[in-house]
Amino acid sequence: MSYVDEVIEQVVEKNPAQPEFHQAVKEVLESLRVVVEANEEKFRKDALLERLVNPERQFTFRVPWVDDKGQVQVNTGYRVQFNSAIGPYKGGLRLHPSVNIGIIKFLGFEQIFKNSLTGLPIGGGKGGSDFDPKGKSDREVMAFCQSFMTELCKYIGADTDVPAGDIGTGAREIGYMFGQYKRIRGVYEGVLTGKGLSYGGSLARTEATGYGLLYLTKEMLKTNGVDIAGKTVAVSGAGNVAIYAIQKATEMGAKVVTCSDSTGWVYDPEGIDVAALKEIKEVKRARLTEYKNYRPNSEYHEGKGVWSVKVDIALPCATQNELDLEDAKQLVANGVIAVCEGANMPTTLEATKYLQDNKVYFVPGKAANAGGVATSALEMSQNSERLSWTFEEVDAKLQNIMVNIFHNLDDAAKKYGFEGNYVVGANIAGFEKVVDAMQAQGIC
Ligand code: NDP
Repeated sequence: MSYVDEVIEQVVEKNPAQPEFHQAVKEVLESLRVVVEANEEKFRKDALLERLVNPERQFTFRVPWVDDKGQVQVNTGYRVQFNSAIGPYKGGLRLHPSVNIGIIKFLGFEQIFKNSLTGLPIGGGKGGSDFDPKGKSDREVMAFCQSFMTELCKYIGADTDVPAGDIGTGAREIGYMFGQYKRIRGVYEGVLTGKGLSYGGSLARTEATGYGLLYLTKEMLKTNGVDIAGKTVAVSGAGNVAIYAIQKATEMGAKVVTCSDSTGWVYDPEGIDVAALKEIKEVKRARLTEYKNYRPNSEYHEGKGVWSVKVDIALPCATQNELDLEDAKQLVANGVIAVCEGANMPTTLEATKYLQDNKVYFVPGKAANAGGVATSALEMSQNSERLSWTFEEVDAKLQNIMVNIFHNLDDAAKKYGFEGNYVVGANIAGFEKVVDAMQAQGIC
């Protein structure tokens, strides 16, 4: 059996009931086959892949807090410090009822390669909890965040592990967590990113993932002779990534006709009104059913369906496995040109293969959504320097990083004979740097 197959088998056996983690490992290792086979003897002797798929360390902890009725609630907190070969662990904190150790491990594993692709010195980690901030009062969210950080603060620090936001963790949650870290540890340091501007946050961090997705998508299309201006786009999600992806796509002259949340989706033939979407989601924290009040010509549909609309470009920006084989078939039948992932692993393996087999340009999340973590790393730099850069400075660096990411993965794909396969390109480009650092640092 090949080394890659052996390690995939071990991962499945040693990590039962963690399908998302298996999926992420399979996707990465399958596409690294060509590099691994060229170095099989050395990698096997050094157990390089086994070290890559086993986190350096992982924490699971109890998070007790008191709700507004005086009832004690108990959630589970997680932090997985996956790989620190190229820098301190960096990766978000997800607060969502679906969170479990397998989800956090899949996200942490992906993060290693994503962070490497940015070209910045950051290792891979991820964390979170099964706490659901939806429907909770501000006081309840604060009580949870303080309890969560009371335990987490033992394992993180500005030079060791720097968490950030993710699903369910926005500026409010980061603020409460930062306050509690400072209170317990007694240090004012850049231990979290995604902070508010008044206490060390970076301009353009809020916009970074969505904007970055569009900078990369535009560059990828341009390289293939396609202009994004005038194209029709489907976006899923209505959160941080989706909102700023819609905004930037619109600024680039494309028309975004959909967005969604976990209960339904909107079709707006005139193009999504970003100001209305921001008010509904960022100010009122309401459901998308409200969108029709702002745009009477739009349609609201319950359940799934974003990918049934005829578009040129699809940008999944909600959550993992939200675009399956049936969706991919529908997109292809409708003539889609490109699918670029704003979320982490939103496309199933079967759907990815179908899109690639049908010559759709497909860029995986670890490259396409790396603008968020890249700008988090820029926030770390500003915190270390005790300086704040302007929006334009950060945005210019972000554009540069996204353009470089695309050309690095494009070059890596070409170098190994997989021209146009951006999944292989992203995994190889991310892997090469991490492996080089791991080998230089000996067996650890
Ligand atoms: P948000 O919490 O701001 O928004 C998530 C959006 O997706 C919401 O509209 C939410 O709807 C929807 N959603 C969440 N879970 C589901 C589900 N199970 N089914 C359908 N819809 C769902 O998160 P972000 O925008 O920050 O993150 C979106 C994705 O992007 C995630 O995969 C995240 O890991 C990834 N990402 C985020 C980065 C960032 O900087 N924020 C950086 C890189 C990747 P509802 O409100 O109804 O729950």
